[in-house]
Amino acid sequence: SRKSLKVFIKRNLFVLLTIVAVALGVILGFALRPHNLSLREIKYFAFPGELLMRMLQMLVLPLIVSSLVTGISSLDSKASGKMGARAVVYYMVTTLIAVFIGIVIVIIIRPGKGSRDSPVVSSGTIEPVQAVDAFLDLIRNMFPPNLVEACFKQYKTVYKKTVHTRNITLTLNLTDSLNITESNLSGNISRVLQTIQEMVEETVPVSGSSGGVNALGLVVFSMCFGLVIGNMKQQGQALRDFFDCLNEAIMRLVAIIIWYAPVGILFLIAGKIVEMKDLAEVGGQLGMYTVSVIVGLLIHGLLVLPLLYFLVTRKNPYSFIGSLLQALITALGTSSSSATLPITFRCLEENNHVDKRVTRFVLPVGATINMDGTALYEAVAAIFIAQVNDMDLNFGQILTISITATAASIGAAGIPQAGLVTMVIVLTSVGLPTEDITLIIAVDWFLDRLRTTTNVLGDSLGAGIVEHLSRGELQSQDAEVKNSVIEE
Ligand code: ASP
Repeated sequence: SRKSLKVFIKRNLFVLLTIVAVALGVILGFALRPHNLSLREIKYFAFPGELLMRMLQMLVLPLIVSSLVTGISSLDSKASGKMGARAVVYYMVTTLIAVFIGIVIVIIIRPGKGSRDSPVVSSGTIEPVQAVDAFLDLIRNMFPPNLVEACFKQYKTVYKKTVHTRNITLTLNLTDSLNITESNLSGNISRVLQTIQEMVEETVPVSGSSGGVNALGLVVFSMCFGLVIGNMKQQGQALRDFFDCLNEAIMRLVAIIIWYAPVGILFLIAGKIVEMKDLAEVGGQLGMYTVSVIVGLLIHGLLVLPLLYFLVTRKNPYSFIGSLLQALITALGTSSSSATLPITFRCLEENNHVDKRVTRFVLPVGATINMDGTALYEAVAAIFIAQVNDMDLNFGQILTISITATAASIGAAGIPQAGLVTMVIVLTSVGLPTEDITLIIAVDWFLDRLRTTTNVLGDSLGAGIVEHLSRGELQSQDAEVKNSVIEE
């Protein structure tokens, strides 16, 4: 049995190392806390973790493009259509279930009942994001006019306010940080504004941009591109080989970086623990809110999704999840489903032996649009803020929250705390004050890690489910390939 222990350790080396890294990270973090390191010292200390983030992010772009192009071009268009439809149905159904669980829990626990714990911190005159503009941004991002730009830029509506009078047109660019009060306009303009009669105000949404990879745009492009070169028969062979080889090469880089992952995770976790505020401060309403999100995520991730997996595949979901441990811990450490993507790929392909045609197709899409944890959190947070404001939501408003929370989770990028930003859509859709987002910021870094883990779990179980449902197509595709080889 010493031999079998050796085999066990060898097979699970990375998982074991990763778990040890988490434990060491927690210990080191708490050991350093009493030393009251300065922010600067903490940043230096966490540097090895920052490096891991950067290495993983470096691979994401070529990984998304090459895996989607090869994944889709290796299927015939009928098979990829069916597989795509299954994936989309899975994403929609599980996201809606997640939202539903969140709503039920936040209504039962009522974390926001009673009067407000903390005063509202007004963040100035923010022009509320209109839900319709946010939807348009989502669609806009699907079609990036410039692919190179899509590697570092997303579109985001900004608002321009125009004040017309008979003689003057004044255009103000409204940004989140701009706080227009009369006192910070110079005296003259202030007087002019006061004397202006018949003012006509108009706010126009214009196209702005924010940083970050436009993964959605790259996903849409790569899918279409893969579909087209898949249909190009002999002529497309060179391109198919190119992307296939690119994908293989990237996965080999992942296999190297994975050696560094435990070190990076150790410092990501330790750094965060050193940096975080005293947990004792998080009591009362905020504490109950945190508990509500955690309970919801646990129910969704550890009961509902596994049950769904079992019902479809009749296989043990927990051994599937066990083999994903490294990806889940990486998600916990990085707070980013897109940075975790390389590791998710590796776990699914190497440990769970999910067909590459499936993982290459559904994982990049899943990491970009399928975020169960984020959707659940958005719904809980919005209803929590309503409770804090003593606002009773009717059924229609709760329905609106479920729809916008789903949209907000699709629109959120797979980067740290993206969900906090897309919250604005959910809040404005039912007329809740957007500045109340400040109420939940204190615990968001923590909840972000948990929802990211749930997001990655949902994507991975989805790959297993889609593979199972698509086994017919995959087999006939295999047979075709064999036949064509024989014919040649
Ligand atoms: N950090 C999350 C993710 O990468 C997105 C979010 O902020 O909810 O999946």
